[in-house]
Amino acid sequence: MARVNCPNCQSKAVVTSKETLSSHASHLYCSCTNTKECGATFRVTLGFDHYLNPPMASTAQMAAAYLKQLPREQQLDLLNIG
Ligand SMILES: [Zn+2]
Repeated sequence: MARVNCPNCQSKAVVTSKETLSSHASHLYCSCTNTKECGATFRVTLGFDHYLNPPMASTAQMAAAYLKQLPREQQLDLLNIG
């Protein structure tokens, strides 16, 4: 699991609250646990980058969309129900 470190002293920081910007991005409000020497509070932006594996539902949707574009003969051949 991801861990947030203080940008100032590199100590472990705790996430105190989260502000959702969109389904792909949010702000994490963090507090440095090194309260004796640092005690900084800061905000981290957490953002989606890209899929390594697309979600299963979208794979099925892509396959269905692809199939619909093919001639019926090829559709049946691919589905092996011809
Ligand atoms: Zn710190």
